[in-house]
Amino acid sequence: MSLVRKHLLKINPYEAGCPIEEIKRKLGLKEVIKIASNENPLGPSPKAIEAVRKSLSSVNRYPDSNGFYLKKKLAKFFNLKPLNIALGNGSDELIEIIIKAFVEDDEHVITADSTFLEYKIISSVKNRAVVTVPLRYFKYDLGAIKGKINERTKLVFIANPNNPTGTYVTKYEMEEFFKGLPEGFLVVLDEAYDAFVDVDDFPNSLSYIKRRNVLVLKTFSKAYGLAGLRIGYALGNPELISYLERARQPFNVNSLAQAAAAAALDDKKFFNKTRRLILDGKKYLYESLGQLGIAYIPSVANFILIDVNRDCVSVFKEMLNDGVIVRDMRQYGLKNFIRVTIGTKKENERFIKVLRKVLGVRS
Ligand SMILES: *Cc1c(COP(=O)(O)O)cnc(C)c1O
Repeated sequence: MSLVRKHLLKINPYEAGCPIEEIKRKLGLKEVIKIASNENPLGPSPKAIEAVRKSLSSVNRYPDSNGFYLKKKLAKFFNLKPLNIALGNGSDELIEIIIKAFVEDDEHVITADSTFLEYKIISSVKNRAVVTVPLRYFKYDLGAIKGKINERTKLVFIANPNNPTGTYVTKYEMEEFFKGLPEGFLVVLDEAYDAFVDVDDFPNSLSYIKRRNVLVLKTFSKAYGLAGLRIGYALGNPELISYLERARQPFNVNSLAQAAAAAALDDKKFFNKTRRLILDGKKYLYESLGQLGIAYIPSVANFILIDVNRDCVSVFKEMLNDGVIVRDMRQYGLKNFIRVTIGTKKENERFIKVLRKVLGVRS
């Protein structure tokens, strides 16, 4: 007999990017850069920092369980109602709440094979079956996903843009997917990186929430620079949102996170500066990788998937020894790839220098 529930023994826990301080200590390095977890290299918005400072003296109180003020702001921002919004302790928590709220024991979840790991990990922890569909040319293959949908399907997770590939589902592809799609299950469009998208044919996910069983997930962790505070949200029709509200814990989003998010949403200057930095950095990285003859997948997000053409774990380790933390893609099933977050100009230059050394590229 097993003490722990048996399905838990089969799960590989999420391996997060290495913390900077730990690497400095372990390797005795002074200057370490972390470009591994798609965080904002500019830090949090100054307005968010100020809002947190102001809120600190009230942390003796429980947070606002309904996130009244933030929901109101978000509703205005998206031209929706507060009843269209559920808040989560990061969108990670919303993924968990969604699975908890909707998927019965004998139902399954469908997603891509190389995508955000949490869909699979959280489903597995909750002992729900996951059907994974291979990417096609590094993109979500919605046609193949549609082909896997049956009466056991309760949830489909689509990361758009996809992490870790940086590719996206186009508006046309999304329309085709929804055309003639059976009812009775939920589609989750996870748009953690939508702030960085710079193409014209990206779908307007909000147009689906009125028509279909669709939930859209967004987060303050990436473009808004608040990953450490843990806050994300789901947008959907009031009925779907009300189920998330039932399934969540009453104080799931702390007061500092709520205050910071509301302030960050208002800080358009910081948001635009972030976006500019990422788009400029992407251009630089494309050019540099091109010159070095290193292959990469074009990205609409704030990271780039790079083909290092050898075992990615050894590349990761060698770069780490030079104080550059990237993400090796072994856990994602992409054994010859690393994922690099677009950083500041200085970080991008250092990354190229170290990558070039590690891969032994002359030019
Ligand atoms: C980073 C990321 C998230 C965000 O997670 P939080 O829990 O909000 O920090 C969600 N989905 C994808 C695809 C991501 O890459």
